Amino acid sequence: MLDNALANRLLDPRRWPASRRPCLMAVLRMAGLRPTRQRVALAELLFAGKHRHVSAEELHAEAEKSGTKVSLATIYNTLHQFREAGLLREVTVDASRSYFDTDTSDHYHFYIEDERRIIDIPADAVKVASLPEPPAGMTITHVDVVVRVRKIEG
Ligand SMILES: [Zn+2]
Repeated sequence: MLDNALANRLLDPRRWPASRRPCLMAVLRMAGLRPTRQRVALAELLFAGKHRHVSAEELHAEAEKSGTKVSLATIYNTLHQFREAGLLREVTVDASRSYFDTDTSDHYHFYIEDERRIIDIPADAVKVASLPEPPAGMTITHVDVVVRVRKIEG
């Protein structure tokens, strides 16, 4: 697994040269993942531009559009492998809905309920005043904050 800060630097879209494939393959290897054709194809879609939040279903639709034949189950597996390898962060808004964030740095999210979309909240805009002691023998890895919003009627 890659350290989150390192993954974030390596996958910063502003750093990509014109051909990203060799870089993506190198990053996958560094993260301990064999750069299979499907993983590289999905990495190319995920890390194609600006940082983004994507659901498995959205990535599946993008893969189909780009001509990559891959099942939704494979998309799920790959997203979770990327997350476990430190390349993505998962933001769960409810039991049936997860987004995968290409920005693994510390930050929080608004969930726009009527649009089913998340947007970033900078880390310094939220102050977590105090945290409980973690259970014995455990350490806190991350604090997720999802602020739910919806449009004001009328
Ligand atoms: Zn985010």
